[in-house]
Amino acid sequence: MAKKGRSCESCGMMMLDRADFALQSINSRYCRYCVDKDGMLQTPQERKERLTKFLMEDERLSEDVAEKKAVEQMRKMPAWKGKI
Ligand SMILES: [Zn+2]
Repeated sequence: MAKKGRSCESCGMMMLDRADFALQSINSRYCRYCVDKDGMLQTPQERKERLTKFLMEDERLSEDVAEKKAVEQMRKMPAWKGKI
């Protein structure tokens, strides 16, 4: 039972601290970056836009490339499989 943290089912981020979880609930399947202020999972569109922006900044990708990569990453996640 030494399982530490869990990964967000939307973005794959490891959630190690209570603060990483949506609404600081350790039972949440998503991290705080993937939900809105009420703890609801973002729409696929919103998540894609955020991830695209992140990839553009983090990996210095063009918007086209970043968006393709964002969709590819999302398709691998349980939260978005078959939804994007
Ligand atoms: Zn997440």
